[in-house]
Amino acid sequence: MLKKGNKLYSILTGTCPACHGESMYVNTNPYFLGQLFIMRERCTKCGTKYKIEPSFFFGAMYVSYAVGIAFAVAAFVISYLFIGTTLLNSFIAIVITLVIFLPVIIRVSRNIWVNFFISYSSEKVPEKGRKAV
Ligand SMILES: [Zn+2]
Repeated sequence: MLKKGNKLYSILTGTCPACHGESMYVNTNPYFLGQLFIMRERCTKCGTKYKIEPSFFFGAMYVSYAVGIAFAVAAFVISYLFIGTTLLNSFIAIVITLVIFLPVIIRVSRNIWVNFFISYSSEKVPEKGRKAV
């Protein structure tokens, strides 16, 4: 399921939305907090400009709300329904989950946001990485 050409691949790996050839981020590990937001300007493989317009990635805030809710619901289901904690402890579990996964949520939100606007195109894949059809 998770192969190049699928939007989910770009969203989960943070690769260029057009060619899936390289990471959009200078540092692929989101837990280097100082470099969390540092992105390349263009893809070196296909030349796609990630920041389509000024402050383009502000829109990722709306996506991060939805992604945060998804993480919170998952934390609640796991702690309250599976482990059987009290309501207060499952609330604490939600807060801890959101804090721990904040860098991941931010990166995934940006990936989803940029994938709304730029689609995968096999023509953009450099010759070497293109599969014969
Ligand atoms: Zn690219």
